[in-house]
This record gives sequence, structure tokens and C-alpha cells, in this order.
Amino acid sequence: MHRLLPCHPGPKPDELLTSWIARVSYANGMTPTLFIASISEASGWMTDYDCSPSQQLNAALSARTGVHREEIESLTLASYEGVLFESRAFLGTLPSYILPLRLFRKADGCRLQYCPECIVPEPFYRRSWRLALNVLCTKHKRYLVDECTGCGAPITYLRAGTSEVRVGSTLPLWCASCGCAYAAGSDHSSVDAPLAEAQMMVERALARGYADLGRCQVHSLLFFMGVRHLLRVLASGNHGASLREVIRNANGLPNDEMGWRVGERFEFLKNTHRAGLLRLLVPLLRDWPREFVRYCRAARMPAEGLLHRYLTLQDVPYWCAREFGIYSARPRYDPSVEEIKAMMRYVQSGKDSSAVQIVRRFLLRKRATAKYRDLRNLVMEKSSLVRLTQVLAHRWAALEASRAA
Ligand SMILES: [Zn+2]
Ligand SMILES: [Zn+2]
Repeated sequence: MHRLLPCHPGPKPDELLTSWIARVSYANGMTPTLFIASISEASGWMTDYDCSPSQQLNAALSARTGVHREEIESLTLASYEGVLFESRAFLGTLPSYILPLRLFRKADGCRLQYCPECIVPEPFYRRSWRLALNVLCTKHKRYLVDECTGCGAPITYLRAGTSEVRVGSTLPLWCASCGCAYAAGSDHSSVDAPLAEAQMMVERALARGYADLGRCQVHSLLFFMGVRHLLRVLASGNHGASLREVIRNANGLPNDEMGWRVGERFEFLKNTHRAGLLRLLVPLLRDWPREFVRYCRAARMPAEGLLHRYLTLQDVPYWCAREFGIYSARPRYDPSVEEIKAMMRYVQSGKDSSAVQIVRRFLLRKRATAKYRDLRNLVMEKSSLVRLTQVLAHRWAALEASRAA
């Protein structure tokens, strides 16, 4: 039977397991790495215990602190299972929407975040701060901080203060790289209404386990799966950029893409960039799917722009897939008889050799494929200009005859 540690502070409400382990370590005058090695068989801080807890470590923690194992388990991110993501880590991969806990790395990238006004009176890290969808503290109506305001180093409670740990130490609330206090010099910029609305939408879905979408309700897990997909579309390159611009212009939202990295995973984005995407998400989901279809049309979003390279409609949850399907079933561009006539004349004039290429490109487009399959085969065979114009002429005559009938 192990003896209780001299100091064994209990976990706080909504505290992260790793934050509690760090608090217990510092209270007993040890760094968290040393503490874990001293109470378990692990040789130090091995993994992201919030996502993949170790049963052996939990048993040791329970024996040395007197805290029940169930309570220790409740400090992990398990409570979000089935609500925000399907299951926790599959050997080293983080579940959706969970910020990576880069406690040892100085490298750039996302990390732990905190609210300066919450952490000073009660120095511990909340579970909700590891969610990439949480960019604000709704209690204090301010942005969460995700890097040292002095030098930009990641927020951590492992490296900081390791040289000055004594019995009774608390969590170090200063940067290990530059010594800047975590609560000082923080950004007090006010939170705008669209962002507050986005944050409320996330919190409501998490709390209730479902989300309202237009006239229907969707299970939170499926809702967040679809949201993930929409965020991916919004964060994408060319197509995403026009969609972002259209939504911003229509809603008077600021352009906050400074230092933006296109196509980056949502969880790897800085807090301000995640906030920017969430702001754009609210108008897109409003009166679902009407506004979504409207914005996609205005941005001339092609159907393929809605699906990530490796995804098909089967990979997208039904409430999204249905609308993607409806949207993509409507042809983006259907040339009229006059347009085909003009196209033909232009090709025939022979003034521009690139005209053949333009016609070829049009015919190779997915949307045109089914309708003009014969033409597509023709251009694939590097057909002659004469043959192509003949076919176009024939097609034009047929179209005109069908209109006249
Ligand atoms: Zn706060
Ligand atoms: Zn710093």
C-alpha cells in the first residue's frame, strides 16, 4: 500500500488531467516528468494523458492522492466522446477539434490556451480550453490566449519553472522562454457579435447534444462532423477564398487573414484564425441550407470545391451531403443555343488557336461530361478542328430544333 503524498490537492471542476498532474507535481516539489517517473513505471511524461490515459498511471495517482479513479478518468477528454468526436486517440492521432498539447516543443503550431482572467484567481487549465472550437471565454467576453504575449512561445506548464520547484509550488504562470507573466499584457480587444454568436452555437450544441439546423435538429456528433467539413471548405485555397470573401462582404466582417496558412488543419491554426473561420461559419449555417446555397452560388463554388480531394459524398454527414448533393446536382453553367453558336463561330474563324483549347476544356469539365460524352471522346483523341466544328454545328442544329418544337 502506497502512502499518500505530502501534498495532494484535489482536482478542480472542469480541470484537465494533465493540469492536475502538474499541480500535484509542483505541490510536492517535483517537475511533472520526475513526478510521473517516481510514482509509475513510466520513465517520464510519455504521452498526452488527456486523450490517452494510462490505466497504470491512473491507479498510481489514485493510490498516492486518495482521489477516486473514476474522478481521475473524468478529467480526461472522455466526456466529449460521442458528443464532439467518436472516440479518443487511435495511437498517436488526436481526436477531431482537440488542440495538440505541444508541451515540449518550442516549434510553432497550436497549443494550450487560457483565459487570463480565469487563470489568475484559479491557476489551473480547463478541459474546455483544449477544444479548437473554443476561441473565447464567454464568462469574461474575451479571447483565449494561445501563445506567450511577450515572445510567441507555446503555452505550457511542463517546461516552465523547472529550476525553481519547491514543495508547495503552484502551476507556473509565466513563460519559460522570456519570463513574461501569462496574465500580463493580454489582448483586451472586444469580442464582436458574430464571433460571440458562433461561440454560443458551439457551446449550445455541446451542452444539449444536438444542434438546430434550419427546421431540423441534428445530433451534435453529426453536426460537428459536418461543421468540420464546412470549415475545411472555408479554409481551402482558391474556392475557399472566394467563399470567404463573399460571406465577409455580405456580412460586413473584417478580413483577418494576416499570416493565414491555406489548407492548414483547423486544430493547427492560431486562435485568431480559428475565430475568423467560425465567424464565417455562422452566416453559412443560417436558415440551412438556403444561405449556404446562396453563398456558394455567389462565390461560383464548383461542386468539386465542396469535397476534399479524398472525400466523396459518403464521407460527409447526411445533413451536409444532402445539401452538397442538391447544390452540385444543379448545373453551374448550361450554355444556351446562342452561346454554342458563338462558340462555334469563334472556333471556325481560326483567329485564335487557343479557342480549341477553351472548347476542349469546357467539354472535359465534369458537368459537361455526361451531356456531351461524344464530344468529350472526340477531343480526347486530339480531333481536328474541322471535325469538332462539324459536331458542334450538328449539336447546335439539334438544340435549335428541340427549342422550336
Ligand atoms: Zn475567463
Ligand atoms: Zn515568452
